[in-house]
Amino acid sequence: FKTPNTKLPVKHSLANVRKVLLVSSCKGGVGKSTVSTNLAIALRNSNLNVGLLDADIFGPSIPKLMNLKGEPRLSEEGKLIPLKNYGIQTMSMGYLIPSEDSPVVWRGLILQKALQQLLFDVQWDKIDVLVIDLPPGTGDVQLTLSQQLKIDGAVIVSTSQDLALLDVKKGISMFNKVKIPIFGLVENMSVFICPNCNHEEHLFGDGGALKEAEKLGIDHIGSIPLNKQICNRSDEGYPVAIDQDSPLAKPYYEAAAIVK
Ligand code: ADP
Repeated sequence: FKTPNTKLPVKHSLANVRKVLLVSSCKGGVGKSTVSTNLAIALRNSNLNVGLLDADIFGPSIPKLMNLKGEPRLSEEGKLIPLKNYGIQTMSMGYLIPSEDSPVVWRGLILQKALQQLLFDVQWDKIDVLVIDLPPGTGDVQLTLSQQLKIDGAVIVSTSQDLALLDVKKGISMFNKVKIPIFGLVENMSVFICPNCNHEEHLFGDGGALKEAEKLGIDHIGSIPLNKQICNRSDEGYPVAIDQDSPLAKPYYEAAAIVK
């Protein structure tokens, strides 16, 4: 008789990838992909070789943010060759589905297969840090990924008003369970800076994130203002972090210095 296999799944490292960093959020629309992309650019501009993997299979937004489209070519070994812009290697489900409008209706096995391909069938070229943009929440994709990949740490992105939600705690406890260290929390859309007079308005109270992060036992590694430029530049596929000296880029570089 075979004994049942009760071992935990083996965690794999990725070929040519030194460090893997997850960017996660408890729900959609909080700016996780924007943070992932700007963080990746900040890391790249800190002289690191960077990869950006869009694991947000149902709502891939990295192609737009990185101003990339088209199908990846296959290497001789049949691996997907990343598409590159701003010096960053990227891979996304967005490159594998025909058009931006076509819904991703894959479920179950097909989804798992697609994820396995994105995870294990990409030919990365000597990467120091691979930033993985996770789907929001704590579902199957996040779990599969956390169980199968050797991961160095995670960053949690939240807006100030969502910080106190149970979902953030759920996210933290998932990472704790799978023994992934949490680098810290990035608070997005924390302050509104008036484009006319530069007046700063703390929309949800000053310092709230800090206290909330402390309560949750994790570090607060950055606050990013709510700013139209951040949104516009993302839509144009030219994220703000490209301008290293702009004040809007600063929090991304500060977070990058902590996670690198
Ligand atoms: P998620 O990945 O969490 O779903 P996105 O990164 O796609 O969120 O961001 C959702 C929307 O909010 C996008 O239109 C994006 O440009 C915008 N956005 C993100 N961060 C900011 C910010 N700090 N200021 C203004 N708009 C932002």
